[in-house]
Formats: sequence, C-alpha cells, structure tokens
Amino acid sequence: MSSSRPVLFLVSADSGCVRVDAEAPHVSVMDLGVTRGDGIFETISVCGGRAQALEPHLDRFVRSARLLDLPDPDLDLYRQAVFAAIDAHDDVAELYVKTVMTRGVEGAGVPTGWVYAAEAADFAGARTEGIRVVTLDRGLRHDVAQTSPWLLQGAKTLSYAVNRAALREAERRDADDVIFTSSDGFVLEGPTSNVILRRGDTLVTPRTDQGILPGTTQASVFEFAQAKGMKTEYAVVPIAELSSADALWLVSSVRQVVPINRLDGVERSIDVEFTARMTAYLLGRRD
Ligand code: PLP
Repeated sequence: MSSSRPVLFLVSADSGCVRVDAEAPHVSVMDLGVTRGDGIFETISVCGGRAQALEPHLDRFVRSARLLDLPDPDLDLYRQAVFAAIDAHDDVAELYVKTVMTRGVEGAGVPTGWVYAAEAADFAGARTEGIRVVTLDRGLRHDVAQTSPWLLQGAKTLSYAVNRAALREAERRDADDVIFTSSDGFVLEGPTSNVILRRGDTLVTPRTDQGILPGTTQASVFEFAQAKGMKTEYAVVPIAELSSADALWLVSSVRQVVPINRLDGVERSIDVEFTARMTAYLLGRRD
C-alpha cells in the first residue's frame, strides 16, 4: 500500500479549482454520478512528475462528455487542477491522476467535477512476467457503436460495475484480466485496457469504431513501433487471431504494457526484451 497521501482538487465554474482535504467527504449522496454512475472520467499516468498523454486524455474526456450529452468540461480548469495536484503530491516515481465530471446533483443541472492524484500501485511483476487472461463475450456486436449509440460503448463513463464484474469472473477462472469479444466473434478490448497483437513485424490493435475506447497508451506504443520501423495496423480482428498471434499485450495508462502469458488456459511465451523496450519508452514519455 502507498504511504503517500492523495491530493484532491474540486473543479467548478463558480469557484475554479480549489484544493480540499482528500480524506473528507465532498460529493452529495444525491449526485447522479453516485446514484446512477452518470458521468465520465480519465485516468492519467504521471511518471517523474510529468502527466503522460495529457492532451489526448483531455480530448477523450470531451469526447465522452459529448457522447453522454454533458456540457464540455472546462479543459483550462481541469488542466490547471491536474498540474496543481501533481505539484502538491509527494514526489514519487509513479502517480496517477483522475479527472472526473458527473451530471451533478439531481435537479441542479450543474456538473460536479474533481481531480485527484494518488500513488500508483507497483506493476513491476505484471510488466516483466506477464498476466493470465481469459476472453469473455461482451454480448454486443462489433458494430454496436453504429447500431446503438445510446449504449455508450466507447465512452469512458463512471459506470464500470460491468468492467469490475468481468474482472471477478476472470478471478473465478483463475486469471488476472479479460479480453472482451463481440457476440459476432471479434476481439474488442480489456475492461481497462486495449489489446495489441504482434504478427511478424506488425503490431495490430482492434479498430476503434467497434464500441471500444481509443487508447492513449496504444497510440504511444504505435508511435514507438513506427519509430523502430515496424508496421502498425487498426483492424477487425477475429477471435482466432489471438491464439495465432506471435505475442499479445494489454496496454493502459498507469499499468502501461503487460504481456499475456496465458490465454484461456493455454500458456504463451512472452517477448521479454521487446516488452522491456516498450515499457521503458512508455515510462519515459515526456508528455
Ligand atoms: N479500454 C477501456 C475500457 C479502458 O477503461 C481503458 C483505460 O482505462 C483503456 C481501454 C485504455 O486507455 P488508456 O491507454 O488511454 O488508458
């Protein structure tokens, strides 16, 4: 467990960005973020005091707000709160910062916003040894974002109960994490991550128009691969391509890149050296 204390800033149009005691209660029991999970968030890695992929995260925050018909978050205020929270936090190697905006207290029509910084967990073991993953059917077709946009697939909403339930199901199946698949047979994403496959000299990730989150970490991994002369591809990936891939990873902010060493009970070899190079690149990002 972390010994450093989290830092919290409330963000509002009236008061701007105000530091408050992170251990005291601040959100109303009538807040729609609490009662209905109606709101949006982002989780941003901070390494060596620098917020990584901050602008892509803030762009996605706005995109999520629009998908939920929420007002656009005031990015100047959120950016200010992110920097202030990092500055105010103890100087630790890896932090994360969360930006949150809910629909606000029922009836008030004013969003509730906050930003907090906390020390990241230690992911060294997962990053080097890998994790065991199971595929789970999400029960939705891969074209759900086009057929049923009201399901909000691809928005980063506060309604993560399903994502947490999937992780408990993984645990029951003796695994650490999940790859969601579509009901019509395609690879989607993890409950909190994107999937990357390596086929020869090409890195492949599921196309982001399939009701999945466009990942900031996945985008950074593709930049790294392109700089090394590798090819990268966004594709519609049939489930069978997972087992035939040369290597598999889950990528996300904070945990960064973790190799998959077992898929649906079948052991897989991991590319230790390439994973270490990706990890070093991700942790060393300056923005
Ligand atoms: N997909 C889902 C559902 C997520 O919740 C996340 C991150 O939390 C990701 C993908 C990965 O996104 P990022 O790399 O920007 O953290």
